[in-house]
Amino acid sequence: CGIVGYVGPRQCVDLIVGGLRKLEYRGYDSAGVAVVGPNGLAVKRAKGKLQNLVALLADAPLAGTTGIGHTRWATHGKPSDENAHPHCYGGVAVVHNGIIENHLELKAALAARGHKFSSETDTEIFAHLIADALAAGARDLRAAVGQALAQVKGTYAIAVVSQQRPEEIVAAKNASPLVVGYGKGESFLASDVPAILEHTREVVYLEEGELAVLTPAGIALYGRDGEPLARKPRKIEWSA
Ligand code: GLU
Repeated sequence: CGIVGYVGPRQCVDLIVGGLRKLEYRGYDSAGVAVVGPNGLAVKRAKGKLQNLVALLADAPLAGTTGIGHTRWATHGKPSDENAHPHCYGGVAVVHNGIIENHLELKAALAARGHKFSSETDTEIFAHLIADALAAGARDLRAAVGQALAQVKGTYAIAVVSQQRPEEIVAAKNASPLVVGYGKGESFLASDVPAILEHTREVVYLEEGELAVLTPAGIALYGRDGEPLARKPRKIEWSA
């Protein structure tokens, strides 16, 4: 339902949770955050209010300057800690808005290859497909995400981090909204502008089939066929 991501010099967990709070009005049943930091990939997720995640983080803080967060509106699998996003596999973490229609088919094929699943969601297949593509020698995280997207049918806004690429987020959009935000030495993403407006007003709304690679140095945009896009960010003039 809600997505927020950050890559840059700052500790990102509070910033991400603050962004998710701005999207609270959309409703959700669970929340979670994943960071890539000095100790690899770490994830916290909690059923219920964002406050439950905040309490969990207060007990066991996460350190990291690259991260993604999510508030979930369950479509496949009940609201629970296990079904909350981010979903992880093989050092890859994914948050997702939307519905993957062929997830049962993909899950069966992955299970036949020995994959074990830890949630009932349609989303989890992304983590498995991307981790598999990386293991099979995909050139980089963008290529691995592209290979996963070629196999799925459905609607999505996704954000992906990998412990192999600690300063990078790959995001993609098809039918569900996603916006990227430009900062100085830092980059942002969200499912809706108010989540990041406090930090940047320079944004690009991704269009159907587009993919973005966010690093502290900037944001690279790609079209459906992987062609690089040159699009200038637009300035948001209104206040949330
Ligand atoms: N279909 C996914 C799930 O049920 C994503 C739901 C959402 O958009 O929040 O976990």
